[in-house]
Amino acid sequence: MSDVIPLHASPGSQKPCQLHPQSMCPAFGSLRILTRIEGSHPVMATDTGCLYGLTFVTHFYGARKSILAAHLGTSELMSGEVVESTRAAIEVAAREPGCRLIPVVSLCVAETAGLPEEMLPRQVGEAEVVLVRVPAYAIHSHPEAKDVAMAALLRRLGTRDGAREEKTLVVLGEVFPADPLVIDGLLRKMGGAGTISLPGRSIDDLRRAARAGALAPLHPFYKDTMSVFRGWDLPIVGGAPVGASGSYAWLKAVGTLLNLDPALVNQVAEAERDKAQALLNAQPLSGRILVTGYEGTELAYARLLVEAGAEVPYVSTSIGADPLVLPDELWLRSRGTKEIVYRKTLEDDVAALDTYKPDLVLGTTPFCSIAKERGIPALYFTNQLASRPFFLSSGLAATIGFMQQMLTRRAQYEWMQTFFEDDGQEAAHAHHHS
Ligand code: SF4
Repeated sequence: MSDVIPLHASPGSQKPCQLHPQSMCPAFGSLRILTRIEGSHPVMATDTGCLYGLTFVTHFYGARKSILAAHLGTSELMSGEVVESTRAAIEVAAREPGCRLIPVVSLCVAETAGLPEEMLPRQVGEAEVVLVRVPAYAIHSHPEAKDVAMAALLRRLGTRDGAREEKTLVVLGEVFPADPLVIDGLLRKMGGAGTISLPGRSIDDLRRAARAGALAPLHPFYKDTMSVFRGWDLPIVGGAPVGASGSYAWLKAVGTLLNLDPALVNQVAEAERDKAQALLNAQPLSGRILVTGYEGTELAYARLLVEAGAEVPYVSTSIGADPLVLPDELWLRSRGTKEIVYRKTLEDDVAALDTYKPDLVLGTTPFCSIAKERGIPALYFTNQLASRPFFLSSGLAATIGFMQQMLTRRAQYEWMQTFFEDDGQEAAHAHHHS
């Protein structure tokens, strides 16, 4: 099993084949955050083909809400009925009970991607109609599609009119539900007024966000959204409250940008750092871990693991390289990470498995199954890791504790691998004699 088998090598070539899609349709990221808003009824303008897959994943992973869509097959697209059909779908969406927002999502197909905004109503009854252009295959990853949708909503709904909330922090990024509550609690201890969590469920939060004191992106791929906040002159907190040193630096930066009492901020930040450090000292990690995923948060996870004592030689992610990820990249490289791959492919990850022989792998479903076949314990990045607390000392405790359990399972995985291999051989043998 340790033989290196090139996964999808094209015939006669040393380069891995690039013909395999590496992700589901990225537009899912946009639809997910648009459907989860209360009172929002998205209308999709695209070829009917896209609708099948997207409505399925959105129904399950979004908000159990159906998407409305004009029926646009090739003949409707060719005959220029796009605007009429989309307007008709908007009318239907507006009749849904409690409808206050109709995001019109125009996807890849040229005829719908060029949908002229001025041909759509801005408002129908109580509902705002907001065009969200999502050229999915040009966005590349579903986290980045969340950014595109968030920015479009804020551009239209965010308003500086009304009372300023100078001591309120906008926290940006879809995270485990307990994390924003812990952040909110600490902010109030430092004298802040509270947090607004985006992407969230409230339309009013989208309007209020423009009047807050500062923006803290917890994930590094919200580029477009950050430029909207810059346009409103809101200062942006760099980094994220991850690990002992990261949490300390982040809390201090938040305190400064919101003009909170420095003595109080310092007291809270130091207490939080000491708590995190005590946890790291109490249960240090040892072992070699590969961190691979498509969430865009892989570098932050790798940082936490390295701080806890693990060796992380390889990190890969679906998002593109960006100055926002650079501080994490430099931090990791100066602490022994050899390879950081942006816009990675499954083939990149499999090559790393051969190079680094890890004790534990965090990754996507296809990658985890390859690791498990080789007897290496593997955790699904999205379902098992990103669905736990992660930030500040409480998140650190949950993540490190879980990792530690997994690192002790290598012997079990190897036993399972041998068991099934023997079993397989016996089965083949029996078949041969039947
Ligand atoms: S055409 Fe674009 S929007 Fe439609 S499924 Fe493909 S990538 Fe997604």
